Amino acid sequence: MHADDARADSPRSPIDRRDALRRLAAGAALPAVGAMLEGCAIEKPHSIEYPILRRQAAPRLTLRGDPGYEQQRAALLFNRRTPGRYPDLIVHAESAADVQAAVRQARASGMKVSIRSGGHTWCGPALRDGGILIDLGPMRTHVISAASRTARVGPAMTGGEFIAALEPHGLAFPVGHCPTVPMGGFLLNGGFGWNAGAWGPACLSVRGLEIVNASGELVYASENDNTDLFWAARGAGPGFFGAVTRFDVALHPLPRAIHSSTFFFRPGDARAVGEWLSELVPSLPPTVETVAYFRAPPSSMSRSDGRAGERVLAVSAAAFADSQAQADAWLEPFIKGPPGVRADRRQDEKETFRSLHDGMARLYPQPRRYGVDAIWTAAAPGELLEQMAARAELAPTPESFILIALLPPPPPGPGPDIALSMFAPAFTAVYGVWADADLDAKGDAWVRGTAEQLREKTVGHYTGEADLYADPARGRRSFAEANWKRLSELKARHDPEGIFSGFPGAS
Ligand SMILES: Cc1cc2nc3c(=O)[nH]c(=O)nc-3n(C[C@H](O)[C@H](O)[C@H](O)COP(=O)(O)OP(=O)(O)OC[C@H]3O[C@@H](n4cnc5c(N)ncnc54)[C@H](O)[C@@H]3O)c2cc1C
Repeated sequence: MHADDARADSPRSPIDRRDALRRLAAGAALPAVGAMLEGCAIEKPHSIEYPILRRQAAPRLTLRGDPGYEQQRAALLFNRRTPGRYPDLIVHAESAADVQAAVRQARASGMKVSIRSGGHTWCGPALRDGGILIDLGPMRTHVISAASRTARVGPAMTGGEFIAALEPHGLAFPVGHCPTVPMGGFLLNGGFGWNAGAWGPACLSVRGLEIVNASGELVYASENDNTDLFWAARGAGPGFFGAVTRFDVALHPLPRAIHSSTFFFRPGDARAVGEWLSELVPSLPPTVETVAYFRAPPSSMSRSDGRAGERVLAVSAAAFADSQAQADAWLEPFIKGPPGVRADRRQDEKETFRSLHDGMARLYPQPRRYGVDAIWTAAAPGELLEQMAARAELAPTPESFILIALLPPPPPGPGPDIALSMFAPAFTAVYGVWADADLDAKGDAWVRGTAEQLREKTVGHYTGEADLYADPARGRRSFAEANWKRLSELKARHDPEGIFSGFPGAS
């Protein structure tokens, strides 16, 4: 809720907030925020004035202690588990100028800032205790230049909105697998989106960024400008030391024939299926994306064969081709299936990005409470799938699932010089999904127990989906050693006062 709306709900509030806001807009003196908050339900923060923000008329402010604050705080996150961390002030920024004012205000007031684009990071690092949370949620515009195959994208625009806007131009982008994933955090973390095998992590398609730096200046970073920021912005995720207010990205031709094929196996066949995948995946073209899930069967399947309640091992391959014949040829080795293992069913679909997104959205229901961890592992696929089959049986709810993506070996030679630097042959993401807060402890124990089982073969984590609060080393373990060192040095140089919150536990 805007401070402007607060009085009607808060008869105990000692001053008229509408009047305060009117005075604020007019640049008149305002009582300390601490005074404004007296008598409100939530403990008031220390007494702060916000003169710089006061001069910037546009952004809505939600103050800790406003009656609507708690509702606002919870609405910032996709995950219905709202961590017990309470920013002093939430600035709903609508422009880069609003963000600059908020950063300058934070500097002047000795406060930290945290940034939120769409609040899709499971563990909620955008929510910190104290300081200013800059919500970029209103910044979701885009401009497409079909002629130059480029676009300018606001940080809160979602992948679903972006791909829908690109399709009429015959263009595409490696957007996240769910339609609601916002571009901001997704691109900063690296972004493993659709067709990443061919198009690479989405951050490789970033050509430039408009950034509010730690001094509150608006700067541009690209291959030629502010190259340190450009290096860090492609992978640093929550460790980035700036607020990105716009991404300039390169676009890709829209694949004209997207086709998916999914086998449904019994979890008891996990080892054989894993061994088959370890042989198969390196032989497939990079335009075929293969993922295995231990999940509840889709509703159509449980109805037809009476296996409701039982888990399945679903293995899906999606080909991003230019003709149906090309897609069929690419999927042919997959469709042969594992020797000696019978699938309960195989399902083929002609797809669009929209239908791919719709399918994934069903796996991530809302509103739900999520416990998630994401692990890069060097475990052999047969062993890994067998281990995860056993863990999936212990899942706290039928909606919980485990996803395993096996990656082909990277091309020979050095990879791109960007902050993103953690890869391994298999990516495992553990999703605990439940509705009832009473299941929190059980759900967390399952997620953390599964991560623990993989510990010996864990190579590292992915900042976009890992539980960064499980262990302060999660941030460091999400990068190659040299990249972590450079990132830490750059943060110290470009944000010496530590204005940006950084990785949980690292500042
Ligand atoms: C349903 C679902 C599906 C997902 N699927 C995928 C997937 O397919 N591939 C994948 O790679 N990831 C996926 N993710 C993870 C997702 O990409 C990351 O969690 C990402 O950070 C979410 O972006 P956000 O803008 O909502 O981040 P937020 O939660 O808003 O922010 C998290 C942190 O990122 C930083 N940050 C965010 N925006 C900015 C900005 N503009 N400037 C500076 N710092 C910023 C801040 O430190 C902030 O605290 C998925 C998440 C969900 C919930």
